[in-house]
Amino acid sequence: MSLYRMFWLAGFAALAVSACMAKTDEAISATASEKPLLFNAHMHSAFVGQDDAAYLRDVLAEMDAVGMSRAVLFINEPSDIADWGEAAPGRFLIGPTFPCVALRVEREQSCDWGGQDWPDIDWLRAQYESGAMSVMGEMLFVYAGVAPADPRMEPYWALAAEFDIPVGVHINRGPPEDSPSRPAGCCPNFDSDLGDPSLLRHVLEKHPELKIWLQHAGFPATPRFDDIDYLEETFALLADYPNVYVDMTALHSVAPPPVHEAAVRAFLDHGFIDRVMFGTDNWEAAPIIERYGAMSFLNENQKRGIFYDNAARFFGLTTH
Ligand SMILES: [Zn+2]
Repeated sequence: MSLYRMFWLAGFAALAVSACMAKTDEAISATASEKPLLFNAHMHSAFVGQDDAAYLRDVLAEMDAVGMSRAVLFINEPSDIADWGEAAPGRFLIGPTFPCVALRVEREQSCDWGGQDWPDIDWLRAQYESGAMSVMGEMLFVYAGVAPADPRMEPYWALAAEFDIPVGVHINRGPPEDSPSRPAGCCPNFDSDLGDPSLLRHVLEKHPELKIWLQHAGFPATPRFDDIDYLEETFALLADYPNVYVDMTALHSVAPPPVHEAAVRAFLDHGFIDRVMFGTDNWEAAPIIERYGAMSFLNENQKRGIFYDNAARFFGLTTH
């Protein structure tokens, strides 16, 4: 999840947020002339107990500055629904992060669902029924040491399938120990093996229509990740299930551009470039946009797909 990055947004002027909320995507696109229309498929609210208001202001300022009309927002506690969803109606597709883990001993908790690490299933159903939430995730299986096929997950998979709710799953073997996203004291049950996308087959066999997106896809095999990349497993899953998409968050912010490019080329070569969705995971958006913009091996349609259209298709949105 490499989540909860602090923004370095000092350069962005706060724009008129309320005006943008009422605009159509086309209007935003026209306003942000020469900027691609953006859908961010991966963003997090602030830590449990932290001031969401200040963070929300920074996030909205960045969204307006770069022409990002919508974002998936993984929230960490029930109060985030009002703090974010009601503050910026229509801009966030909200989902619950779980199972919760302590990120640092006696410090931040990744999420808190009324004192529980898992949101109450009936409460969650009510959120989907009311439209307050429309996605599920980020699923922290690796961090929590919980397998996708764990029996405790089945009610959630069934609920997502019933409401056609896309589920975002943190995959791959990272983050590495003692990195900013996995500091000392974090996650005693962390289990890299649970980042294998193949483990989702069990779920998809039972719920073949379920929409799942694999988060942090494309990382190469390196000693930091036990020389395992899961690319073969990722492509096999995409081949078998047309409802499986990916984001490349973290990779396109921490890996050198050639490594990110190689991953994008691999998705292109395998015929899955239209399943790749732009996302920031709370890293600064502008450098990521620049990277995709500079990829001359992608045509304009493919770039527009990554920036917006693929996510609009996956999340079932039309412009309105
Ligand atoms: Zn993640």
